[in-house]
Amino acid sequence: MDKPLKPDLQFAREIIKAGGESLKKCYQCSTCTVVCNLSPDDKPFPRKEMLYAQWGLKEKLFKNPDIWLCHHCGDCTAYCPRGAKPGEVLGAVRNLMIRNYSPPSFLARWVADPKYLVLLFLFPILLFLGELYLLGYFTGTEIPRGPNGEIAYSKFLPAVPWIDVPFMAAAAFAVICFYLGAKKYWLDLTEGVELKRKDIYNCIYETIKDILLHRKFQLCSLNKGRTTGHLLVLYAFIGLTITTSIAAFYEWVLKWYSPYPQTNIVKIIGNISGIALIIGMLYIIANRSKNAVKQGIGSYFDWFLIVVILGVGITGFMAEILRLADAGVFAYASYVTHLVFVFVLFTYAPHSKMAHMVYRATAMVFAKTVMRQESIKQKEAA
Ligand code: SF4
Ligand code: SF4
Repeated sequence: MDKPLKPDLQFAREIIKAGGESLKKCYQCSTCTVVCNLSPDDKPFPRKEMLYAQWGLKEKLFKNPDIWLCHHCGDCTAYCPRGAKPGEVLGAVRNLMIRNYSPPSFLARWVADPKYLVLLFLFPILLFLGELYLLGYFTGTEIPRGPNGEIAYSKFLPAVPWIDVPFMAAAAFAVICFYLGAKKYWLDLTEGVELKRKDIYNCIYETIKDILLHRKFQLCSLNKGRTTGHLLVLYAFIGLTITTSIAAFYEWVLKWYSPYPQTNIVKIIGNISGIALIIGMLYIIANRSKNAVKQGIGSYFDWFLIVVILGVGITGFMAEILRLADAGVFAYASYVTHLVFVFVLFTYAPHSKMAHMVYRATAMVFAKTVMRQESIKQKEAA
């Protein structure tokens, strides 16, 4: 027999605080479920999630793949006759899920609260300033330059140990947090559930294809434009990962250090990816602003990630342009600011909205294994 449901008003209040302030307006008309193109025919969303949220049914929400199958397109919010903003409510629940699954939970709470913004940035700022202090730059040591007297960041802050150690530590921390979070979420999703498809690797492969093509985004109606921005950012990150790998190969294997000529493959891929990143983010911001009245502008938690990614792109380009312009201290300051933004992005990835990559992918794989999304496939094919 099912356990009796117990409302948890404290949890409902947490959803409201996390950005779901409109949730009490819902009167269960189901318009949102009808307009949502990502909602499967059996047990569709988000009407039922609005009810769970009003009652604070934490377990029903957290063990529910639909929270992540929602791609926050805002169609439901635009059509809701009560202004209950179901898209924003689901976004708030996702925020709380990240807090629940990604350890340590206090970091996700800090990322979601403007009160801790300075503290989150203070850590990498002090870290890199500390490195500069140890290298003697604050006590009159001259900044080394490249062979032709040009600015060379690899000489200013050599990769080993000053860059590689903190960034490898940050990457290891993020991977461990993601692994623990995704494992806990998967165990919650699969508890007492029959996995109808056993070909889990095929489900993972299909999920990766869905993500690379952004198939689900394309099903959104009013907000189709966001697909372009999201795809640009996704491929920019892939390009920047390739750039970093090639640069690491140059440094670790060939012992060839930056700056590299603008015609080198590492610069070409890096510059194209950087431009794609900035354009993609501006596209996302413009799209959000354009649809703000109908579909909601998003929470502080959403904007934290937007600003950090944009900061990574802009400071990266500034560091390059100011280096080429031989702008001395301004170039070095841009470079250190860029390192701070990249550090913030990676270290807090499991606790910021960036975590959607992992939790949404986990929910998508689960949905395929239980054949939850068969009716969506038909919409995709149509
Ligand atoms: S969120 Fe809005 S559209 Fe959805 S059931 Fe509630 S009132 Fe209706
Ligand atoms: S935001 Fe979009 S995907 Fe999410 S429930 Fe609403 S209509 Fe569906």
